[in-house]
Amino acid sequence: GDMPVNTSGKPDISREKSASLYEKAKSYFPGGVNSPVRAFKSVYGTPLFIEKGDGSHLWDADGNEFIDFCCSWGPLILGHNNARIKDKVIETIQHGMSFGAPTALENELAELILKNNKFIEKIRFVSSGTEAVMSAIRLARGVTKRDKVLKFEGCYHGHSDSLLVKAGSGLVTFGETSSAGIPKAFAEETIVVSLNDREALKTAFEEFKDQIAAVIIEPVPANNGLLLQEKEYLQFLRDICTQNGTLLIFDEVISGFRLGFEGAAGYYQIKPDIITYGKIIGGGLPVGAYGASAEIMDHISPVGSVYQAGTLSGNPVAMAAGIAQLSELLRMGFYRDLNNKTEEFVESIRRFAAARSYKFKVFSIGSIFWFAFTDKAAVRTAEEIDPASMEKFKKMHRELLNRGIYLGPSGYEVGFISAAHNKIDLEKAKRAIFESLDLVFKD
Ligand code: PMP
Repeated sequence: GDMPVNTSGKPDISREKSASLYEKAKSYFPGGVNSPVRAFKSVYGTPLFIEKGDGSHLWDADGNEFIDFCCSWGPLILGHNNARIKDKVIETIQHGMSFGAPTALENELAELILKNNKFIEKIRFVSSGTEAVMSAIRLARGVTKRDKVLKFEGCYHGHSDSLLVKAGSGLVTFGETSSAGIPKAFAEETIVVSLNDREALKTAFEEFKDQIAAVIIEPVPANNGLLLQEKEYLQFLRDICTQNGTLLIFDEVISGFRLGFEGAAGYYQIKPDIITYGKIIGGGLPVGAYGASAEIMDHISPVGSVYQAGTLSGNPVAMAAGIAQLSELLRMGFYRDLNNKTEEFVESIRRFAAARSYKFKVFSIGSIFWFAFTDKAAVRTAEEIDPASMEKFKKMHRELLNRGIYLGPSGYEVGFISAAHNKIDLEKAKRAIFESLDLVFKD
């Protein structure tokens, strides 16, 4: 039943304007970018400079048009330039952009979240996912009066010092796993174990008895491919933390408001002690947040002794964007429709690849998907990904750009579907993906 495939190659898209912007950018910014993965280092050609986005579509400086499956790395669950978000932002901006004082908009966004999420009672807004996680770690250390943090190989939690150890995202994309510039003493406070390995966890808890403040995990690890975990394993994690007086932190910067309004905690029905958010919560503007029980949150300054602050925290314009976006997500059937649409899309790609016996899988959950050049039925740990398979992703990425499909420029990153992706977009994308796969597997 899937459509016929044209296996003829296509010429590369023109990148003249992007290339000249990139030349300039290289003299201004390290590597020409303000965040590493954007540099297209592990895919073909110079990075595309984006001029505009509308709905599910993107246009670059050379006028090339794409259906966007990166969606600003996740925040744009309603697509680009959503009218309701835009109107709310414009309305809010008429009254000034920042006050460094409380506003009713912060209450409004907090109420929207807390009333519809049974896993947290209080929240603190910050300006990025990195900041949310860094603060959550400090909170866990402050509450438990312990120093060590346990994280998982391949999970990315932003770029704060103690978490840039065996992290995914740009690090794994560039073939490194940890950053320079992290004092040894800091890294020593971070214990790293493999995902999906109960014995390793038990051993760590024995070796560092009463020293582990927090275990942090992306409950849906999505920065080193999509390493879906089993619910039983996440429950095991919950239990071992409880038994050891260790706080469990779910980093839901990607999964939050994505798998459902209550994120992965709601999806798996597992209650972590602290949850971090980013991306979707800000409607495309810079917002992050962390939340927990009132008791845990009241350890934060000015009531408690854990200090955390921000000049632009709870910025009214960013709050307005968040309010507009999250209100849409609460509409009946929003997630059902989005998730069904995604499932249908990825299923037909799976069927196509299986029918041709390609060593290719699509892993997905909710509206998150990952193209994996593997024949494994499940990939749950970073170690199971063959770095050599990224050559195939590189080729596919180029072919997809040539066919008007924009994926994030790394085979270790996931793709996202938004409410703005319609049937025509997805049919066009499928055809492009089929053609590209045929070319990738031709030789
Ligand atoms: N945690 C997770 C799970 C993430 O995916 C990211 C970013 N991709 C971060 C934290 C850091 O967020 P930010 O880039 O907004 O600092």
